[in-house]
Amino acid sequence: MTRRIDILGAGLSGLSAATILSREGYDVHVYEIRADSGARFDGDFQGIENWTSDTDFFDEMREWGFDPEEFKATPFNIIDLIHPDDVITQPSTDKPAFRVVERGTDSHCIDQGFKRMAQAAGATIHYETRKALEECDIIAAGPKESSAIAFGEIFHTDHPNHVSFQLNDKLAPGAYSYLIIIDGIGLICTCLWRQQKKSSRYLNETIAWYEEHYELNRRPIKRVGGKGDFSLPDRYIHEGRYYVGEAGGLQDFMWGFGMRYAITSGVLAAHSIMERCDYEKEIRGRLVPLVRASAINRFLMNRVSNRGFKMVATHWVRDEKRHGDGLHFMKWVYQPGIFRRALWPVVKFAMLRRKQLKDGRMVSRMPFRKSLSRDVWEPSARAIEIGEEWKSIQRGGGQTSFAENEA
Ligand SMILES: Cc1cc2nc3c(=O)[nH]c(=O)nc-3n(C[C@H](O)[C@H](O)[C@H](O)COP(=O)(O)OP(=O)(O)OC[C@H]3O[C@@H](n4cnc5c(N)ncnc54)[C@H](O)[C@@H]3O)c2cc1C
Repeated sequence: MTRRIDILGAGLSGLSAATILSREGYDVHVYEIRADSGARFDGDFQGIENWTSDTDFFDEMREWGFDPEEFKATPFNIIDLIHPDDVITQPSTDKPAFRVVERGTDSHCIDQGFKRMAQAAGATIHYETRKALEECDIIAAGPKESSAIAFGEIFHTDHPNHVSFQLNDKLAPGAYSYLIIIDGIGLICTCLWRQQKKSSRYLNETIAWYEEHYELNRRPIKRVGGKGDFSLPDRYIHEGRYYVGEAGGLQDFMWGFGMRYAITSGVLAAHSIMERCDYEKEIRGRLVPLVRASAINRFLMNRVSNRGFKMVATHWVRDEKRHGDGLHFMKWVYQPGIFRRALWPVVKFAMLRRKQLKDGRMVSRMPFRKSLSRDVWEPSARAIEIGEEWKSIQRGGGQTSFAENEA
């Protein structure tokens, strides 16, 4: 008799598991509360990283049977690294350091590519459908709470394809902002690792900064955003259910690059159900060391301001000179060396809080940190104008996919 598998959530982790299990002949049903896969993100650009393993992630995906041609992906091997004192350097590498994909409901988006692969394999996806967690075998429902948030604006631009990554504690408290431009569409996003009132003022100021430094000729389309939930559960299989992707706490505490972990964990859960591996063991061996290293880095990042961010950027530049590869630094950052391992007990105690979730799981969770006095500053005249511009665009129908009160 065909075994039935029920999956909660039709995001990347849930659809990855669904594709593999359906191909193996399982009767797979995926339940998604939203109207479509990717609706959570609605046109956001995100980068799939290529630095936490020596294997190119697209080769890994092909080995698992996924076709990366199913969605649009733009590789980058160089970025503008913007230091907190506005110096711009350009780390580069030979191969793709990351690939930018679009999240959303348009057919070229990664979510739609994974949806097509799951459906072609035979999975049934039930959109706008609720299902009790207890009735599911795989929980792939994404983040529940907020440890950090990101706000971005999508716009038309004449600027060629480009990625900038800015370490700046004023524009992005405790974190970073970025500019991504793909084929005439731009995204400026700021990430807040400290909770703020009126978060949109950080986005307005960030946009003003990028406008001053790049020829953008920006014509706003919409604003997007979302939250990240950073927690490490005690177990990845709980009461017989497999927790994958962000629902399983498989997220990068340092920068929030969770897509690779989401797809990988979906694949591993499917392989475990097919009795090809032990999910708990694989996750602990392959992903938990990376998540822990990222949590330790986050702990260190939380302790520094722009002076510390400048040291990070300077170290990155020196590291590239020494090793002849701009990606070497990012690979090193995720290596769980002796220093980081020694710091782990301190990080657990000082940064993470024990919490029991509604489903009974115990997690060590990073709370959304409180704002600091330095987070309050007078906005520039241009940032105020940008805020006013956006309000008038909104009145004319401009959409925001994420409200501040969702954080
Ligand atoms: C603004 C922003 C920018 C980001 N940028 C990057 C980046 O550049 N690179 C990167 O690698 N990662 C990035 N991430 C993180 C990445 O998006 C996530 O880690 C990844 O999507 C997690 O995949 P998932 O399958 O676990 O969850 P999701 O992709 O969120 O999928 C979960 C699905 O479950 C559905 N769902 C939720 N609750 C229920 C329920 N009760 N019943 C049914 N369905 C439910 C949701 O609607 C959603 O479709 C970013 C995140 C945000 C918010």
